[in-house]
Amino acid sequence: MYDIAVIGAGINGSCITYELTNAGKRVILFDSDGIASGGSGAAGAFISPKFSKSGELKDIIHDAFCYSLDFYEKNFPNLLSKSPLLHIAKDEADDAILRVYKEKTDLELLDTPKLERETLSLNAGIVDAKPMCEALSKSATFKKEELVSLEYDDGIWIINESYSAKEVVLATGAYKTLLKEPYIKLRGVWGHRIDVKTTTDNPHSIHQFVSISPSQEGKLAIGATHNVHYHPQTTTEKYDIEAGRKELLEKASRSIGLENIEVTKDYMGLRSGSFDYMPLVGSLVMSHETLQNKNIHFQTKKPDYSAYTYYPNLTMINGSGGYGFVLAPYLAKMLAEFILSDKEISKRVDPARFFARWAKKGANS
Ligand SMILES: Cc1cc2nc3c(=O)[nH]c(=O)nc-3n(C[C@H](O)[C@H](O)[C@H](O)COP(=O)(O)OP(=O)(O)OC[C@H]3O[C@@H](n4cnc5c(N)ncnc54)[C@H](O)[C@@H]3O)c2cc1C
Repeated sequence: MYDIAVIGAGINGSCITYELTNAGKRVILFDSDGIASGGSGAAGAFISPKFSKSGELKDIIHDAFCYSLDFYEKNFPNLLSKSPLLHIAKDEADDAILRVYKEKTDLELLDTPKLERETLSLNAGIVDAKPMCEALSKSATFKKEELVSLEYDDGIWIINESYSAKEVVLATGAYKTLLKEPYIKLRGVWGHRIDVKTTTDNPHSIHQFVSISPSQEGKLAIGATHNVHYHPQTTTEKYDIEAGRKELLEKASRSIGLENIEVTKDYMGLRSGSFDYMPLVGSLVMSHETLQNKNIHFQTKKPDYSAYTYYPNLTMINGSGGYGFVLAPYLAKMLAEFILSDKEISKRVDPARFFARWAKKGANS
């Protein structure tokens, strides 16, 4: 019997595994395709803040950026490269956003080259995506196995009719989910990253139309999650890798001239975002059971999440959009404190908010 079963070994599953094993818990980690086989294996894994004027998402990513950069540096210095990030505005609207951001931010800004568009530079980092997930999860028992059945029996979760655990954490990203709750809707956006050999030397992480890593030993990485049309689970067509490479190289060439290019490797995967863009961390409401409760008034502006019925000892961590590597250490700490010490999770990331909105709308959309 395990204390906790974590399903999904991307950066979210790996970070919560790290927190729980560090706290002395026996953790079993499942992934159908291996560690970092989903969106996390494809990520450029840049650790950067979100450059926008204001809002909850900007705020949580800012907090996570400060926390996570420090976390990776302290615990896994060999898997983090620190380098200056150069963000270049895409268009006029972006120019205005960057100007406001620069005025308001408390982060230390670096000098930038004078370019046609507004620019911003600060110290940031890049994580070695797959080795990081492997290092984070190394103290758990790993099973390369798909979660196909999950039953709660007498206070214990039975997984695939073979394993038992007191708690379950779902960290399945945008991939197939077993628990079908109608109010949980995640949007999978397809991304592509390429490793490129080039004689051009690039000292920065450049972010404009795509993300370009600094060069190391004549190689750099170019990536983006920009393909909203392709989804491996809703189409039978194969993703056109050659067209994806062309698009990435064309977009990169608008930011930097790359000479003598040879693409040496492709990585692809889905990133998972929620419909209000904020992540989902915490317990899951049992919608059917909660709707039966005649004492709950669903047509309210101030829903009382504590009145809902929840799956026992089951939580999720998901919906990090394009900031999974920035958010995961921060969110995993929050989730571990909830699992281990019952510390309340901020309402802004609580999955119950989606239940409340769905129930208010009439529970049928
Ligand atoms: C090209 C690209 C570039 C990106 N660049 C950045 C970046 O620079 N910075 C950044 O912070 N973020 C970036 N992201 C986003 C980031 O990768 C994601 O936010 C993050 O990987 C999400 O992690 P996750 O653990 O939630 O999901 P995933 O990494 O997708 O992990 C979910 C895992 O669950 C497994 N799984 C699902 N269902 C089951 C099941 N039933 N049984 C067993 N296993 C299951 C899957 O196999 C998968 O491995 C990028 C994404 C892409 C695609």
